[in-house]
Amino acid sequence: MNASADEMFKFQKEPLDESGWVIKNVLSMPIVNKKEEIVGVATFYNRKDGKPFDEQDETLMESLTQFLGWSVLNTDTYDKMNKLENRKDIAQDMVMYHVKCDKDEIQDILPTRKKLGKDVADCDEDEIAKVLKQELPGPSKFEIYEFRFSDFDCTEIDLVKCGIQMYYELGVVKKFQVPPEALVRFMYAMKKGYRKVTYHNWRHGFNVAQTMFTLLMTGKLKRYYTDLEAMAMVTAGFCHDIDHRGTNNLYQMKSQHPLAKLHGSSILERHHLEFGKFLLADESMNIFQNLNRRQHEHVIHLMDIAIIAKDLALYFKKRTMFQKIVDESKTYEDQQKWTEYLSLETTRKEIIMAMMMKACDLSAITKPWEVQSKVALLVAAEFWEQGDLERTVLQQQPIPMMDRNKSAELPKLSVVLLILCVPCI
Ligand SMILES: [Zn+2]
Repeated sequence: MNASADEMFKFQKEPLDESGWVIKNVLSMPIVNKKEEIVGVATFYNRKDGKPFDEQDETLMESLTQFLGWSVLNTDTYDKMNKLENRKDIAQDMVMYHVKCDKDEIQDILPTRKKLGKDVADCDEDEIAKVLKQELPGPSKFEIYEFRFSDFDCTEIDLVKCGIQMYYELGVVKKFQVPPEALVRFMYAMKKGYRKVTYHNWRHGFNVAQTMFTLLMTGKLKRYYTDLEAMAMVTAGFCHDIDHRGTNNLYQMKSQHPLAKLHGSSILERHHLEFGKFLLADESMNIFQNLNRRQHEHVIHLMDIAIIAKDLALYFKKRTMFQKIVDESKTYEDQQKWTEYLSLETTRKEIIMAMMMKACDLSAITKPWEVQSKVALLVAAEFWEQGDLERTVLQQQPIPMMDRNKSAELPKLSVVLLILCVPCI
């Protein structure tokens, strides 16, 4: 364009600024993004040699505007990502606020106001450890070493205390310098992190960790594992169903829940694991804070395996490998030698750990009848609630097991529990 000859530039009678700059030639083009939307206009003024812009300049500029279009799009995407990141931080902050125990709640476990006349925040570590020791129930009161353990006579706070007790019984608090306050806060957050659903609630989370503890200690499986590994396994038990919604993986997929979009497989398991790790990453609840890097990585690795291993599909893969280990164990006559051999076999130990986790998750079936029959009803009730959701929200007919209208057709409760527990993992 010859600017001086064009009507559009007739306003320009004099130089535009003090430098005496005058518009002589103009080359202008739209900036188009990848979606073919005009996101801007690029304009060049005055060719350096004073000649008007020609076709070659146009071609050059076309390529340039293409790049400009992409970079505008990138900036746009970058802005959106930043916003999302900020939103995520805010949401996480809100979650933390609701999951962490506040200064009044912590008095349930550490009654420092009553005992020392001050808040936990004003106490030193020795004072906290002393108060905690007085408050813990000890190993026998609630029979935490027993496979027959039942939570029915415990309050949810009792279970928090029993959970803390288990870490002391494992001997890991002293060995790995777990700050007592962090342990209290972690265990309290576990209780708060479980939703108040019918079955997959804090009581279930606790029961799984307690069975893991009992398998290790009373069942003597601890002999294959180090103290660090035992701590990881019990911690995995606590975290294994945190924030469960009372509906299974299939429901997350059918309802197109964001969790299903985020995680391609083992949807809920990955969420429980991430949530558990998210809480542990908070300094105030980080029971692993005094581990060295190698120990920390090992603990997290084991938690990854133990929690994801709950997924039924993975269980079937591991079952064959597990059978091989069982057969192999029969070839050893000397128990001591077998223990020494297995303790050094990382993969085999991990497979056994995964199976232990699975067993813990299903352990309600091993409880005395009066306990397992009540648990069976809770499992059934949660399934029926999912069935109700499938009927009302998804407008689908639930499978008979989740259909409360077919509850009369259910076989005897002990069998029900066995059947029901398998798909709930
Ligand atoms: Zn579970």
